[in-house]
Amino acid sequence: MTKPPLTLYLAAPRGFCAGVDRAIKIVEMALRKWGAPVYVRHEIVHNKFVVDGLREKGAVFVEELEECPPDRPVIFSAHGVPKAVPAEAARREMVYVDATCPLVSKVHIEAARHHENGLQMIMIGHAGHPETVGTMGQLPEGEVLLVETVEDVARVAVRDPQRLAFVTQTTLSVDDTAGIVAALQARFPAIVGPHKEDICYATTNRQEAVKAMAPRADAMLVVGAPNSSNSQRLVEVGRRAGCAYAQLVMRAGDIDWRALEGIGSVGITAGASAPEVLIEEVIDAFRARYDVTVEEVETAQENVEFKVPRVLREPA
Ligand code: SF4
Repeated sequence: MTKPPLTLYLAAPRGFCAGVDRAIKIVEMALRKWGAPVYVRHEIVHNKFVVDGLREKGAVFVEELEECPPDRPVIFSAHGVPKAVPAEAARREMVYVDATCPLVSKVHIEAARHHENGLQMIMIGHAGHPETVGTMGQLPEGEVLLVETVEDVARVAVRDPQRLAFVTQTTLSVDDTAGIVAALQARFPAIVGPHKEDICYATTNRQEAVKAMAPRADAMLVVGAPNSSNSQRLVEVGRRAGCAYAQLVMRAGDIDWRALEGIGSVGITAGASAPEVLIEEVIDAFRARYDVTVEEVETAQENVEFKVPRVLREPA
């Protein structure tokens, strides 16, 4: 039986970013250095496949530090942690390694600097997301106010409109955030902040590639996890860029083939925590059903790499 033709557009860049790559390396190197078990507070990155792979090698994932025994190393996830967490690990004399992405740490430093200068902070982010919790937890309670939407900006009650600064989560929608920043600047003209926002290069580049790819594709799939903020944003960006059907899939098994009936092209991308092997699995699933032609839609090239902490580069 002949297979129907299908063009697969592959967004580039897609998938793993430098922060995720570093965080996974940190867990692997810690396992080599100290042996199993190594404890990891929160999913090191938001991807079940990655987490399951590390669990098989001896990583134990917990949500809170108190679940870790004091005599085993603990690693903090790429999303960052409130200041109280490493402080507690130090108090318990634990060996800990911070896998917070350096681009998240940069936001922590910005927030601390503004606080030292006497400014109250506003954070643009998603309530409850570990990165938001981590960034807000850099400063004392009440010093960081969270806004999620333009409507929140109208409601937020600040101490002094003349002494304000803002930071953002790194994985937000570039376009939505621009609207929220504009609303903040309109209501609080004296507010200080980064040049545009703190959205990282990887989030920006993946959204740009989707904007270029989505209008050409009859449907679009984002390989990623439901709790991955940057993956969810890619689905939204795809829909807004004109792709009527944009869905998140964790793996090939999640593809709704019935919904794709009759299409001639599909765009594929992946969130920053999704490994390339899962993208290949999705492509192979299409190859099994269609006569596939792959076309890459490249909007940027990335060569960012972050070093792992020195403690892991030194012999045990
Ligand atoms: S998405 Fe951006 S901020 Fe998050 S880990 Fe990757 S590079 Fe770092």
